This record gives sequence, structure tokens and C-alpha cells, in this order.
Amino acid sequence: MSKTRTRFAPSPTGYMHIGNLRTALYAYLIAKKDNGDFILRIEDTDKARQVDGAIDIIYKTLADCGLKHDEGPDVGGNYGPYVQSERMRSGIYKEYAFKLVEMGKAHVCFCSEADIESQKEVTEAQVGSYIYRDPCKNLSKEEVEKRIAAGEEYVIRQNIDPTGTTSFVDEVYGTITVENASLDEMVLLKSDGFPTYNFANVIDDHMMEITDVVRGNEYLSSTPKYNLLYEALGFNIPRYIHCPPVMKDENHKLSKRNGDASFQDLIAKGYLPEAILNYIALLGWSPAEEREIYSVEELCKAFDVKRINTSGAIFDIEKLKWMNGVYLRDMDFDKYFKLLEPRIAKCVDSKYDYQAIAHILKDRVVLLNDVDEMVDFFNEVKEYDNSLYINKKSKTNEEISLKSLQYAYETLEKLDDFSHDAIYNSLAAKAQEVGMKNGTLMYPIRVALTGKLSTPGGATELGAIFGKEETLRRIREGIDHLKK
Ligand code: GLU
Repeated sequence: MSKTRTRFAPSPTGYMHIGNLRTALYAYLIAKKDNGDFILRIEDTDKARQVDGAIDIIYKTLADCGLKHDEGPDVGGNYGPYVQSERMRSGIYKEYAFKLVEMGKAHVCFCSEADIESQKEVTEAQVGSYIYRDPCKNLSKEEVEKRIAAGEEYVIRQNIDPTGTTSFVDEVYGTITVENASLDEMVLLKSDGFPTYNFANVIDDHMMEITDVVRGNEYLSSTPKYNLLYEALGFNIPRYIHCPPVMKDENHKLSKRNGDASFQDLIAKGYLPEAILNYIALLGWSPAEEREIYSVEELCKAFDVKRINTSGAIFDIEKLKWMNGVYLRDMDFDKYFKLLEPRIAKCVDSKYDYQAIAHILKDRVVLLNDVDEMVDFFNEVKEYDNSLYINKKSKTNEEISLKSLQYAYETLEKLDDFSHDAIYNSLAAKAQEVGMKNGTLMYPIRVALTGKLSTPGGATELGAIFGKEETLRRIREGIDHLKK
């Protein structure tokens, strides 16, 4: 059996759509599960959609996600070039298109857009649907040659015999059979000489010896037409794996064009590539075991195309957020600290111990972008209201809080060792001495230190980070605040 070869074939649109990234992931997993090759091919034949720097976004996304391609424009390989516009320059698409014309499987068409539109209007009005019936199919070979030689613009269209049916097997959707009469004779080569996606994908997948074609299910309806081309050219038909759409809600696909998040948008919001990848693996595929957290290596082992679903999966940002939190909590501290340090440094004075701050954030950060807001009190306490001192669970009100802060001040003023444990032990002893619950003594300290209702770390952990002088200063300010 030949080596499994899959490809990811994005168009350089300037962003990485979540559905496309999932296609890349599935293609990668299918190849790697079999020790096969994962190939990157850039499909840039639609010049209108070209954006500067778009290819770099594709490289960066794959690298950030750890989906390393074995062949591609940047890494080379034996089946290059890997960019369709470069492939075009060698003339292969035109050559194959005219080969099909020779075989009677395609024809040269000189119709203008206006000709096509007017036929469309009439036919749609008559029968409700429309398939272009091309008068150029009846042109003689001599006439075609004459008109081409005269410099007339032309496209090449597929010929489809309207009798009978075409069937193909998709690993996800099963056997699909369509009436040939329902298939439109699509353009293979455009008037600018570029192939259409519909044509180039067949030629390239064949030439690159792709064994498994993984793509979105929007291509299911065109696949019979591709198969007619494979058959006409005597190419082996690949295994098809069409993936269900990623949905925004029951009725709408997730779409960057409608403002939905791309991979880059999610990264900019503080999501981790590994969490995004793990989450999207489960959008449209269900593992055999009851489990949700998978690294890419684990996915390679667990992935099975038979368990790809046929119906669309709704992209649930809350679920992704939860998963992101799991990844941050489970992350090895050094790696986690590397991610957090620049964010802490942006908001917090360098006199504080960033590692200690990262520690108190460890189990609480869900999104990297939350860090700014979580550490904003280190440099200064913002305006707050004394009502923050009222807390039912800690049994505090403004009056009791004032007492607590006074006790805390007295206690901590005498303390030399300002480690977390020493602070805690001395305050706990004080609470016992004065007959207060620990919470009643400590809750107001946290409010005085931060001016916030909820913060990472409690009074004692924060006190240790602030140090004696700053802790006492903030408690003093808290006392003054309560006296106002
Ligand atoms: N260039 C196509 C797209 O971006 C690729 C489809 C395919 O994988 O064949 O949708």
C-alpha cells in the first residue's frame, strides 16, 4: 500500500478560519496516525482574494499549533512547487485542460458573462433552476482554433454526459450518488489562464500523490464532477474525508467574513494554541473514550475518521474558555511563567516578585488577557467604596472592618519575618486572642490591600508580596478610608 499523504490547501486570505484550521488538524492527524506525510499547498488561483503577508499567517498558525508540514513552499519537497500560481507557470493546468478537450471531456467556450447571465435569467424563469447549456459545445475544432488564434478570450469547460449517475464513497458521509443531469459543466481554466479550484485540486492532488483528501463538506456536491475528471484522465481516486461545518449557531456557519473569530483573533484574546487545537478537534469528531483533554500526540493515536460526525458542530466559546483554563492550570510552571511574565511586567512595578504573583494567579487565570485586570491593584489601589468591607460570609461590616484593620496593623507592625506563613500565623493568633474568626480579621485586610472585591490571593499571600512597609501603608490607608 502507498504511503498516506494528506494535504492542507488553504487560500491565502489573510486569516485562519477556525474551520480551515480544523481541516488542517484532521489532515495532519490522518497522515501522522499512519506515519504518513502532511503537505502544505497554497491555493492562490483566485487573484481577487490575495492579501499581502497572508502566506506568513498560514506558516505561523501551523507552527504555533505544532502542525509541522513535511512538504510545502517553505520546506520544499519532491512534488513542488507547492504554490498553485507557481505551478501554473509550468503550464500543467493548461496542458491537462487541452488534453481533456482532445478527449472530448471538455470544450473551449467563448461565451461572455453577458451571454451566460441572459441564458440564466431565461432558464431560471422557466424551470426555477439553471445549468448552463453552452452553445460553444457545438463549435467545430477548426472554428475553435481559428478564434483562439485570433486572440479571442476563452475558458475551458468540463463536458458532462447528462445520462446516468455518478457515485462516490466518502468516509464520513458514505456513498453518494447523483444524477449526471444535475451536474453543471464547470469552468476548468479561466480566461486569465488560471485554473479554477475545481480543476486545480484534481490535478494537484494527483500529481502530489495525495491519498486522502480532507476538506469541508461544502465540496461534497462538486466531488462527482472531480471524479469524472479523475476517471477521464485515468487518475486514481483518493479517499475522501469531508468534514461537517463549524457552526456559529443552529443555522449559521462560523464565518470570518461575518465577523466571527479567526485563529488570530482568539490568540489576540489570550487563548492558547494548544487549547484551541484540542477544542476544535472535538468539533465534529467524538473520541471513543469519555475524555476531552488531548495533546496533538494523543490525538494522533485516538483519531479515527469513522468517528467524524456528519452534522455541524456549534462553536461554543464558553467551552473553549473552560478548556483554556484547564491548559493554564495544568501547565508546567516554567512554561506558564514565560507566558505570564511579560503581561505582569506591563502592569506591575518591577520591585515585586513576578514569580510569586504568577503563583497566586495560577489556578485562576482562564484567559491570558485577564491578567491585566487581575493585577491592576499592585501599583495602586483605585477609588473604592466602603461597602466593599461589608461581607456576610466573613461577618464584616464597616465598623468591624475598622477594628480588624487596627488589630492587623498592631500585629504586623511587630512582625519581622514577613513570609506568608509568618503573616498567617501571627494574624491567626491575634484573631484567637480577640475572639474573632480568621475570616473576619483577614477579609478587610485584603480589601485594604487591593480596593477590590475579588482578587487572586488572599490577605496573607498578598501581604507577603507587598512586604511589610507597603502592607502597613495600605492598611493605614484602609483605616483612614473607613473613618471617612
Ligand atoms: N483552497 C480551498 C479552501 O481554502 C481548499 C479546499 C480543499 O482542501 O481542497 O477552501
